[in-house]
Amino acid sequence: CGIVGIVGQQPVSERLVGALKRLEYRGYDSAGVATIDGGALDRRRAEGKLVNLEARLNKDPLAGTIGIGHTRWATHGAPTERNAHPHFTDGVAVVHNGIIENFAELKDELAAAGAAFQTETDTEVVAHLLARLRRDGIGRREAMFAMLRRLRGAYALAVLFEDDPLTIMAARNGPPLAIGHGDGEMFLGSDAIALAPFTNEITYLFDGDWAIIDKTGVHIFDIDGNAVARPRQVSSDVAY
Ligand code: GLU
Repeated sequence: CGIVGIVGQQPVSERLVGALKRLEYRGYDSAGVATIDGGALDRRRAEGKLVNLEARLNKDPLAGTIGIGHTRWATHGAPTERNAHPHFTDGVAVVHNGIIENFAELKDELAAAGAAFQTETDTEVVAHLLARLRRDGIGRREAMFAMLRRLRGAYALAVLFEDDPLTIMAARNGPPLAIGHGDGEMFLGSDAIALAPFTNEITYLFDGDWAIIDKTGVHIFDIDGNAVARPRQVSSDVAY
C-alpha cells in the first residue's frame, strides 16, 4: 500500500504512476490515480498490478496538473476495481493507507443520514464524512479538521476537493507520510524513496499531523489544529 500526490505545473498522471512504482513492493491488489482537470475530478483505477493501471491510462489518458494516487493492500473489501482507491463522493477524492477502526459506526451514521456507499472499504467513510461537512456549509480546512477528529485507527490520507484545484490535503496517524519540496511544485508520498526522482528535500509529518499543500509549500497542523513547524531535511534516498 502506498500513497502519492503531486501539486504540479505540468501534467501529473505519468509521474504519479512512476512514484507508485517505487512503492509497489508494499502491495498491489489494485492501483488508481485521480486528478482535477478543467475543474472536474476524474480517475482511472485497475485491479492487480500497476501495469494494469498503466494500460488503462495508455488507452484513456488523464490530464491535470494536480493529483493523488494509491496502491492498495486490501484490508476491508475484496481487491476489486470497485473497491480500488481513489474513492469519490460528491466532489471529494480520497486515498488511504491503514485501517479506520470505527468505520462501521461511521458508516451506519452516514447511511442513516442518506449516504449511498459504493464500496466495501473502510476508507469510503472518509469521503462521505467530508462531503457531508461540506454540504453543511463547512469550509475545506475546517471540514478536514472536523473529519479527522472523528477517525479512530491508523491512517495516511490524501484528499482532493473538486472546488479547489490548487491544493492537496493530507493527514498522518501511523503510516508515514513524506512531503517533498520541489521547484514550484510539491509532492507527497508514503516514503522519500517514492519522491526521489522529484526532490530530496523532505518534511515528514508527525503522528497526528495534517497538512495543506499547494505548489508554493505546505502548512502543517497538529491534532489540535495548531500550526506547527516540522523539520525540512535532505533525504539520502537516491533515485534509481
Ligand atoms: N483499509 C483500506 C482498504 O482496504 C486501505 C488499505 C491500504 O492500506 O492499502 O481499502
